[in-house]
Amino acid sequence: MNDLGDHQKAARTAACGTRDAGGIVRCDACPVLCRIRPGRDGACGRYANRHGRLVRTDPVVFAQKVVEDGGALVEFAKNEGDGTLIRGAPTFVTGIGAGTTYPDYKPAPFIVANDHDGYDTVTVVSEGMFTYCGVKVKIDTDRHLGGECATVRADGQPVGHVTTAEYGSQMLALGGVRHLTAGARDEGRATCATLERLCNGEAVELGVDGGPDVVVQAGAAPVVDGRREERMRSGCGSAIVGMFAPQWAGHVDEVVVVDDHVTGLLSEHQAGRKLALPPTGVQLCGRRSTPGRYFGVSGPGRSWGGTDLADPRDAVARIDARLAWPGLRVLITSTTGEDAFYAVLDDDLRLVEAPLPQPVADSVARIGDHCEPALCTVMFMAGAGGSLRAGVTENPVLLTRSVRAGETRVTLGGAPAYVWPGGGITVMVDVARMPRGAFGSIPTPALVAPIEFTLPRHLYAALGGHDGFVRPLEDVLEQHALSARIERWLLDNPWPLEPFRRSS
Ligand code: SF4
Repeated sequence: MNDLGDHQKAARTAACGTRDAGGIVRCDACPVLCRIRPGRDGACGRYANRHGRLVRTDPVVFAQKVVEDGGALVEFAKNEGDGTLIRGAPTFVTGIGAGTTYPDYKPAPFIVANDHDGYDTVTVVSEGMFTYCGVKVKIDTDRHLGGECATVRADGQPVGHVTTAEYGSQMLALGGVRHLTAGARDEGRATCATLERLCNGEAVELGVDGGPDVVVQAGAAPVVDGRREERMRSGCGSAIVGMFAPQWAGHVDEVVVVDDHVTGLLSEHQAGRKLALPPTGVQLCGRRSTPGRYFGVSGPGRSWGGTDLADPRDAVARIDARLAWPGLRVLITSTTGEDAFYAVLDDDLRLVEAPLPQPVADSVARIGDHCEPALCTVMFMAGAGGSLRAGVTENPVLLTRSVRAGETRVTLGGAPAYVWPGGGITVMVDVARMPRGAFGSIPTPALVAPIEFTLPRHLYAALGGHDGFVRPLEDVLEQHALSARIERWLLDNPWPLEPFRRSS
């Protein structure tokens, strides 16, 4: 954690905390209520007792839009800058390092009035402590990572499960209130540590019961059982047949695109029919869903394209001698083109492996070219309702309604949050769009994440906001210019202060 210098700590003396005898300070920024001895840190490492005062150990983060000499905006990911506040640059006060509202009714640590192009806004800035939270991890791979509901472990502890696969990706649901609170203490700790590390962009090794070990890192390629994934497929077996059928016509008589879900068979597929390809007598295992589209040709596994097929010929149930002919050319490939097998039927109509002819090899390479780079995506998801809202307004349900109506914008570290429909304020955010080190934790266990609510100034008053605590941006910058960490604004993120839809 980035420890501040003494003069900076003075500027960040926490508003929370009381002094006990012997120079001990009690931190009341979370339910743990640490009693911190002089010179020591609290249990989370975010607060410390320095010279008998409770101080924050890590800086609040301001994100600035910075214009280069040439007039172009520079984002922090491309230019770290020298970390000093640039006067006059559009600045957003993030919740990173801001402090909490515990025990909930306290006004948020920063309630910032900002004039954006003549439009008065208020941004309510704090750190939320989330017990109801987790991450959804999208892992671009065809490798079978485990059956649905298989337990995912970190350091041997259950921290989540495999959930429904998506198109070209395996999905994990990690964390959640049950793992954080309902199991043994070690399970809660391991879950919290796993979430914090993933959300902060670190690589985490996970094990799946009955499946492989996988290293997951937001924005990086997954590593499955020590092998770095390169390709994310562009479609299922049927889709691949549909996309590439014309390139195969004339070079090969039959193509099987193996997939543990939807396997494609060219001659029977509508794409093959449109090209007037004749039936070949190649019949697949599994069951036919629609012409040329087969389910259950293989089970999930660690062989060909995430199937359990060690020998691609096992995808073929039989060859109908009434339709097939000696010399018939068959290509079997996986959906990414990583695996390919070419065979020619002999006089007994057996599949005899042969070298891939160049045009066929080119078509397989093109399947690979159509793949995208395999990545891991980590989406933080949490319920920001409950007590957190009281730090924004004395009438918390009005905030919920305002968020629902699109009048109040929710960001986490400046990154836009998707707010789930329905009740409460259930948010989801891509951690890769947040500044580095945005997450912390407390030993309850729970995650600490920044959260900002931005809304028109007049609406804030109408919602029963803590009007007496609103401070102009300039005052906040002046007070924290020396202690804050200055980040460049990530230009992919919309500027939260852009004018809002007018409320009635
Ligand atoms: S865990 Fe951290 S925030 Fe909670 S009381 Fe202790 S020092 Fe304060």
